[in-house]
This record gives sequence, structure tokens and C-alpha cells, in this order.
Amino acid sequence: MRKIETIHDLRSGLAPARRAGRTIGLVPTMGALHEGHRSLMRIARQQCQEVVVSIFVNPTQFGPNEDYQRYPRPAEADLACCADERVDTVFMPSVEEMYPVGETTRVAVTRLTEGLCGRFRPGHFDGVTTVVAKLFNIVQPDRAYFGQKDAQQVVVIRQMVRDLCFPLEIVTCPIIREPDGLAMSSRNMYLSPADRKQALSLSGALRWAQQTIAAGQRDVAALVAEMREQIASSGRCRIDYVEIVDADSLVPKTTITGRCLIALAVHIGPARLIDNVVVEG
Ligand code: AMP
Repeated sequence: MRKIETIHDLRSGLAPARRAGRTIGLVPTMGALHEGHRSLMRIARQQCQEVVVSIFVNPTQFGPNEDYQRYPRPAEADLACCADERVDTVFMPSVEEMYPVGETTRVAVTRLTEGLCGRFRPGHFDGVTTVVAKLFNIVQPDRAYFGQKDAQQVVVIRQMVRDLCFPLEIVTCPIIREPDGLAMSSRNMYLSPADRKQALSLSGALRWAQQTIAAGQRDVAALVAEMREQIASSGRCRIDYVEIVDADSLVPKTTITGRCLIALAVHIGPARLIDNVVVEG
């Protein structure tokens, strides 16, 4: 496995594989790697001949009062994790490499970025689409792997790929959870043992909604009200949103019909946690 820090070295490093027609898979991450990231690497490893993992804590996707500074950066452990998953190349650029002095371009997907997390994290998705577009141009992968954990992000990136004609396939990978249901996240490290227990109310509420819908409930307002109540009664927290939207267009639903995304974002202790499930109406 090689570790590469510059765009120039990455391009020349991948040139032989590209010339040989080997399929290149890209797994973009911000590091602090866990089983969720590993699952993406494993799927990429199965489907591609060259696997590139990028590790870059992208400053443009953090708001001014968010956790950019304190975001975990365990570089050595991350490299060991990538080696363990038989990754070929780890791309770990500096901020200056990705955003050189004088850069002024941003990639923005409209409409799909207005609701859900976009409403509470202004500019977040512009940062995501900008860095992902740059990574796509740098690596030029055949496939790129994203987790359903960040459901809105996947919808937004798929739209960007269509709109900007990026010649690659987006592969969406399922959410990996702890045995008790908590969705894995680098931000789970921020949780105290009490927070960690309380955070189970998120996956618990989603599971309750899934079961209640399977039993016939179709009324979105009733579902959302009960989910909010379950989360609020778990302890001190701040709910950004609990919403049920069309899984493709992200337009809010009033009744459960077709593929619906049930998504939520909740602040518990120092962490802002997101989770979701997709249900069929
Ligand atoms: P991050 O490092 O948080 O930016 O995540 C990098 C990629 O890993 C994104 O595509 C995430 O959706 C994905 N990911 C993070 N956590 C999980 C998880 N628990 N299950 C599946 N994918 C995940």
C-alpha cells in the first residue's frame, strides 16, 4: 500500500493502472476509520482492481461553529486500517494541496441541498460537492463508494454526477451499525457513556417507525410526532429534524407511498448524530 500526499504523485501513481485498463475504485473519507468505512473498502475491493481511499478532513464542509478543529485525525491507525483492507493507495492531501491560495471555485447542487441537513448546515453540501468533484477529477475512478448513512449526501452526489457528466458509477453501500443499533460514525467518539446510551433512541425511533409502517400506518405527521417524542423523552437533546421524504427527490411526504426516506439529525451531548432508514409504502 502506498501513501500519497500530492495530486501530481497521485496522478502519476495511477497512470500505469489506468493505461493497463484496470478498474479504479475511490472511497472518499474524512478518516477516523471504523467498520462503516471498512465496509465501503471491502465492497470496492470486490468490485475494482485498484482501490484508492482518500482521507481528508474537508474544511469547506464544516460551518464556523462546527467540529472541524476537534475532528479526530488518527493518521497511523487509519493507515493500518487501510492496509488491513488491502487498499492499494491512500491519498492524504494537505488543505493547501486541495485548496491552494487563490482558489475560488465552488460546486453547488441546488434544491436537493435545501432541506434536511442543508437547512441546518448552510454551505455544508457545497463543501461536499466541491471536494468530491475535485477528488473525482484527481483520481478519475470508474466507481466511487458512498454510505447510505449520509443519505442526503448520496442523493446530492448522484445528482452532481448526472448534471456534470462525470464518467463514473456511484455505488451506495448499506449503513453499518453497532450490535445495539447505533449507526457507526466517527463522531460517536464524542459521546460519553450516558450520551451513548441516549443515542440509541435514534435507531430505536427509526426501527419503531419501520415496524409501525409495516403494520399499516401511513400517516407521516403521526409517525414523526411519535418519533420526536421517543427521542425527546430519552434525555436532554436538540432535535434538528425528524422527516419523512421521497427517497429520490427528497420532497416531504404526507403519506407513506413509494420509497420513503425517514431521516433525522439530533444533537446529543457534544455530537450531532444523523441516521435514517428507507421504507417502501
Ligand atoms: P466520513 O468519513 O464520515 O465522511 O464518511 C466517509 C464515507 O463513509 C461516507 O460515504 C459515509 O456515508 C460512509 N459511512 C460513514 N459511516 C458509515 C456507516 N455507519 N455505514 C456505512 N457507511 C458509512
